Amino acid sequence: MGVEWLVLFDIDGTLLHSGGCGRAATRLALQEVFGTTGVLDEVSFAGTTDWQVLLEALVPAGFFAEDIRRDLDRYERAVAGHLARIIDEFPIRPCAGAPDIVGALRDDPAVLLGLVTGNVQSLVAIKLRAAGYDPRDFRIGAFGSEGWTRPMLPPLALDRARRLAGLDFAPERVVIIGDTPGDIECADSIGARTIAVATGPFSIEQLAAHRPDHVFADMANRDAVLSAIFANGHAR
Ligand SMILES: [Mg+2]
Repeated sequence: MGVEWLVLFDIDGTLLHSGGCGRAATRLALQEVFGTTGVLDEVSFAGTTDWQVLLEALVPAGFFAEDIRRDLDRYERAVAGHLARIIDEFPIRPCAGAPDIVGALRDDPAVLLGLVTGNVQSLVAIKLRAAGYDPRDFRIGAFGSEGWTRPMLPPLALDRARRLAGLDFAPERVVIIGDTPGDIECADSIGARTIAVATGPFSIEQLAAHRPDHVFADMANRDAVLSAIFANGHAR
């Protein structure tokens, strides 16, 4: 049996609790690359992309979107350097049940595991390793420097998955798992099913209002989460 399912995870609040390390590294990198943090303190990171965060922090401070785009590569290198240096100061830990779910999916030959994350790519391996994940388990991804809104990311991940697997994934066999309304809503861009987990800043009730296909307090109930991922359509 070959690959049939594509499961795409968000990172912060879904796979791991970052303890604020991303915001701290962003602050240092903005200062280094742009000379100011703009209005970063007023910007929410949840369910957005790092590119969007930069726009929301810097445009009100007088920067042009085109200038921010031009400096994205430099920012991405700077923020990774800062994160690698400071990450040990933060209490990073995996979200309840998430490592077990990732392990089960990684070991399932019918599943291609990937990421749809607002993090710029240079941060991904640093954060995943700090929480005990192996970044190589996630075979494809779409990242926060590839879209200034989150709905731009799932089509990129799906395209990369198709090319890697050499097949089209049926929409009902593509699942996005995340902790924010932004994760749920971005799935519309590819018609994927959605699983919301209340391990980030939003409650079960807040997430349910955005009508994910399933919502869980966390991923600790292994059988229930795997059944939701496969919509009971995959013999295990
Ligand atoms: Mg998240």
